[in-house]
Amino acid sequence: MKLNDDGYRRPFLNPLFRDKPVADARRSDAFAKACPALNLDIRPYKTERYDPIWGELKETFTGYASDPEIRRNGSSGGVLSALAQYCLEQGLVDGVVEVRASTINPLENIAVVSRSRKHIIASCGSRYAPASAAEALAFIASGEEKFLFIGKPCEAAAVRQVQAEDPRLRENIPYILSFMCAGTPSLRGTDELLEQLEVPREELASFRYRGDGWPGKTQAVLKNGERRTMTYNESWGKVLNRHLQTRCKICPDGIGEFADIVCADGWEASGDGYPTFEEADGQSLILVRSDQGQKLFGNARAAGVVIAEDMEPAEIRKIQPFQYYRRTTIVARLLAMKLLRLKTPSYKGFELGKGLREIGLYQSFRAFAGFLVRRKKIKKRQLELA
Ligand SMILES: Cc1cc2nc3c(=O)[nH]c(=O)nc-3n(C[C@H](O)[C@H](O)[C@H](O)COP(=O)(O)OP(=O)(O)OC[C@H]3O[C@@H](n4cnc5c(N)ncnc54)[C@H](O)[C@@H]3O)c2cc1C
Repeated sequence: MKLNDDGYRRPFLNPLFRDKPVADARRSDAFAKACPALNLDIRPYKTERYDPIWGELKETFTGYASDPEIRRNGSSGGVLSALAQYCLEQGLVDGVVEVRASTINPLENIAVVSRSRKHIIASCGSRYAPASAAEALAFIASGEEKFLFIGKPCEAAAVRQVQAEDPRLRENIPYILSFMCAGTPSLRGTDELLEQLEVPREELASFRYRGDGWPGKTQAVLKNGERRTMTYNESWGKVLNRHLQTRCKICPDGIGEFADIVCADGWEASGDGYPTFEEADGQSLILVRSDQGQKLFGNARAAGVVIAEDMEPAEIRKIQPFQYYRRTTIVARLLAMKLLRLKTPSYKGFELGKGLREIGLYQSFRAFAGFLVRRKKIKKRQLELA
């Protein structure tokens, strides 16, 4: 995966494989089935309990990591990192595949294998820029070691779908964890943040989007030790979310349906139903989706690694209004894309029509028209630049 000129990561064919047609045919077939930008098929992982908005739910909780350092460094309640640390400690896996900022270039996100609590804490927090945890798959497939995989919902889907084609990956990745995702912003979004903070790239020593509290500030540390910050609401709410890639805007799975366990921000809704984003001790929303996830979460909870309280699934909508809105308006946006003759991915089994019926015609029409207007503006800007 490489960054393109628009600041997004895209797959490029490794020239080393170009002359191997037999392997290529097999690989490209598996790739087409697994790539979430082309294909998402949830049918093999559904039961009759499937919820058309929130997917397969075995249990729902709110909670946080009992380890205070993990909770503080975590993006929300540090639950993903606490579960990863538990799996390492118990010997359930040999390593955790996740993403962290490169120590050489603080704006580059790299896929890493964490093998200690120190590594896991270094990978805590959300990186709101392109990242490819699934890059580690070639390494995982080459050995016998077992891994817990943490990635965005699209990466969890890629791993689950490629596992269906590859028994070695099925064996070597016993757990897949994910988080709710509103979309990946282009690296240009981060450039805009640095501009607002008046930090030249070459003077940057480290950069975090959030964490170190909840939601925690966006923080640039300069090589001379100076710190510049802005709030989560300013960075995500006013800059980063304007740089999302098109695929994320038509994603039916911002909620991690292919993972065993999914975490999200356990925001408190304010009067208008939207979160207040006021600083507090980290709190996660936790969705347990599979038998494997249920066993892992139950054991980690019983061991006191995660502190959790039961939550009614009906409450999720209040905590995650954006995810509810996007899921129920996907059909409208897909129709707008088809009208514009843009290529759309194949989504199977998500019962998106039920979402459309739930949100109603008025909101669907707004989403449909909004998509068309935004595309028109982008096209106009591209023409001006050309
Ligand atoms: C692009 C993006 C969009 C998000 N959108 C939402 C949303 O709409 N609603 C919501 O509630 N939460 C969203 N989150 C998730 C939220 O910020 C927390 O990650 C989630 O609550 C889990 O918190 P935690 O404290 O358990 O995670 P932590 O314990 O801090 O663990 C975070 C894990 O995520 C991995 N990670 C971080 N960034 C990336 C990345 N870009 N790609 C792959 N892996 C990564 C880290 O390596 C680490 O393993 C988003 C996160 C990202 C990165």
